Amino acid sequence: MSAWWQMRCDDGHGWSVFVEDDSREPDATQLNCPEDDSPAVTATCLPIADRVQISMLPAAWEREGRVGRADEYFLEVRSILDSSRMLKTTTTMSWEDVIKYASMFRDIPWDLAERRWARMFSKARE
Ligand SMILES: [Zn+2]
Repeated sequence: MSAWWQMRCDDGHGWSVFVEDDSREPDATQLNCPEDDSPAVTATCLPIADRVQISMLPAAWEREGRVGRADEYFLEVRSILDSSRMLKTTTTMSWEDVIKYASMFRDIPWDLAERRWARMFSKARE
């Protein structure tokens, strides 16, 4: 899991470092203040929050110089904390629609995303 590390030096400067692996601490250079190079006196690990990552997957095919389904996309949402939790549309949509639907998953936790997805796509797709 990824995390933010938030540091502070004796002179009251604050800075943050993003690490892909929260079991790893920032390296020595990241623990020094970017303004005056003094060492951090506090370092706090802030684990990444439960949110969804959003992907738009191109559906275009290509064979012998011909292209089909150009500018059609599947929408996929996935838990940032557990990548096995994933939802993907079964039909394609336009760029404009995928952007519109994706915006409904902005800054929300996985459980809410799952409920919102069920409301949006179980009715709309029948
Ligand atoms: Zn400083």
